[in-house]
Amino acid sequence: MKTSFKLVATAAAGLEAVVGREIRALGIDCQVENGKVLFQGDLETIIKTNLWLRAADRVKIIVGQFPARTFEELFQGVLALDWENYLPLGAKFPISKAKCVRSKLHNEPSVQAITKKAVVKKLQKHYHRPEGVPLQEIGAEFKIEVSILKDQATLMIDTSGDSLFKRGYRTEKGGAPIKENMAAAILQLSNWFPDKPLIDPTCGSGTFCIEAAMMAMNIAPGFNRQFAFEKWDWVDKKLVQEVRDQAENEAKYDLVLDISGFDIDVRMIEIAKRNAEEVGLADAITFKQMRLQDLRTEKINGVIISNPPYGERLLKSEEVDDLYADMGRVFAPLKTWSKFILTSDEAFEQKYGTPADKKRKLYNGTLKVDLYQYFGQRVKRSEMKQ
Ligand code: SAH
Repeated sequence: MKTSFKLVATAAAGLEAVVGREIRALGIDCQVENGKVLFQGDLETIIKTNLWLRAADRVKIIVGQFPARTFEELFQGVLALDWENYLPLGAKFPISKAKCVRSKLHNEPSVQAITKKAVVKKLQKHYHRPEGVPLQEIGAEFKIEVSILKDQATLMIDTSGDSLFKRGYRTEKGGAPIKENMAAAILQLSNWFPDKPLIDPTCGSGTFCIEAAMMAMNIAPGFNRQFAFEKWDWVDKKLVQEVRDQAENEAKYDLVLDISGFDIDVRMIEIAKRNAEEVGLADAITFKQMRLQDLRTEKINGVIISNPPYGERLLKSEEVDDLYADMGRVFAPLKTWSKFILTSDEAFEQKYGTPADKKRKLYNGTLKVDLYQYFGQRVKRSEMKQ
């Protein structure tokens, strides 16, 4: 079996650089490209990146790359790769994804079928199984992905299983949750540090607050879930346990934080509390039912992060207009606070009443959104006259 791997972490458009920073913070060199970050490593790298990356979607092994302009080239290229070093006899290996972009081969179902045929042939030969008799697929699953971009095929095996945004703490999510990895990325793009107060005044199921607390306490985002690679027979379970134990030891559960989530909807507050409890953060975050319009604070130098309703999703457009105007009015006195608001509403700044210091384009799923950023004035407590 393999000991060294070419790896790729996939990321939503706009978040690649954040994922790149996270990978470097683990001590791994990497190369940031469109929608993905490339790196190399051993089994421990696979375990660590799955367990620790907060902003990525998935970690995949790159089995090989080759030109594929015809089905024959695709078949021969797939056949030539060393599948036997990954897939034991009995493995399940669905070709779970086929994507063709700007390439001569564009019929994705055919690309998928040919890829499958070639891997089957390779394994039949390697494991001395008769051709013509289908391989039994009864063991652990290795999801194979094939992507053909400008006639260049890339064959990958997914190591994550469920996408990494699924941390395993969401009991329920409410109407329009933000993905956990997106929330974690936005927190990293903000200027929040664990010593500053953080408020999410439209917290819904509590994603921003929970992700912030997990980051601050150095809790591995994946500690509460399993990954596809953990079922593979060649993965050393002791090593996985060691990396998990080390993560557990590094968590600072007793760090005191000032993180609050508010929502007008008491049912969302209940869900947020249950989700926080699931991570062991019930006491670390304050969740309370409150209208944004009632938000007041004497604290300084804090950060507000809000993913308010957009017209498309939860509220009628006049209600959204009023809410954004109220936000502008309620946030205005909080001069030392930075505010980060994520919405798809392109007229947000007019409705809020102040142009943003900075705007950043992101995608919430397929929906184009902007992160409107307003930076607080830094003031020392002694200079404050509030
Ligand atoms: N980021 C959240 C989702 C936010 S959806 C998550 O990950 O789950 C927007 C939330 O704003 C909803 O939960 C809605 O109840 C809340 N909301 C709408 N109007 C509000 C108001 N006036 N004050 C406070 N919260 C409000």
